Amino acid sequence: MKDTLYTIPLTDAFNAEDECPFCFIHRRLEQDAISFTLGASYMEDDIRAQTDRLGFCKDHYKKLYDYGNRLGLAFILHTHYQKLEKDLDKMLGNLDTSSPSLFKRLKHATQTNTSESSLATSPLHEQLDSCYICERIERNFTRYMETFFYLLESNEEFKTLFLNSKGMCLEHFTALLELAPYRLKGETKTFFMNTSKQMLKENLKRLEEDLSWFIDKNDYRNNAAPWKTSQDAIPRGIQKLTGIYVQDEPFKKAH
Ligand SMILES: [Zn+2]
Ligand SMILES: [Zn+2]
Repeated sequence: MKDTLYTIPLTDAFNAEDECPFCFIHRRLEQDAISFTLGASYMEDDIRAQTDRLGFCKDHYKKLYDYGNRLGLAFILHTHYQKLEKDLDKMLGNLDTSSPSLFKRLKHATQTNTSESSLATSPLHEQLDSCYICERIERNFTRYMETFFYLLESNEEFKTLFLNSKGMCLEHFTALLELAPYRLKGETKTFFMNTSKQMLKENLKRLEEDLSWFIDKNDYRNNAAPWKTSQDAIPRGIQKLTGIYVQDEPFKKAH
């Protein structure tokens, strides 16, 4: 049922009093995906076929490297290379590299995406943009956003939890705002649209004040004054803007 598998982690995320419950969910999904990728799953043919095809983004190559299990990563990279070499033969075979206007056409292709050369280069772009871990996170993350709207509409207790939260980061606020018109209707839609905007404004103000006190607290005249809520104003301030946890140590395989 919709409200068992996703409800508990979502409620936990709201209870964590994070700057954004969806960042909290996203971090968990990412760690699960990294452990899964470098756990026993990479020896399974169907999973390896997917990592062979998609590869990973820059961010996730770094995170996979930091995680540990270098031998596992070598296996994954090795067959991804084999697949890439085979695919590149096809992709580059269709590309006329002798033409002096190739660069111009490539530039044009990225702007309009309709020219003939975009057909030839789009597999390269797809290869550069695709990531097994991003895809895996995205699938589950959408379900969490849908569960959020479902609970907001059907569960008063959850509504209170939402109202008492610190709101969302800018990225996840935007994602929810874009999805809301398709998932909510009537009163709940109006409630969410108005409340979430108001919450964003209040919470940005709160962080601005935390940052302000962080600066003042560094004045020697305030040596004895309390930090209040400003000690970690920088990481929280950055998370609110971009959805990342700058203070996190690299996620590593448990020993
Ligand atoms: Zn967030
Ligand atoms: Zn990725």
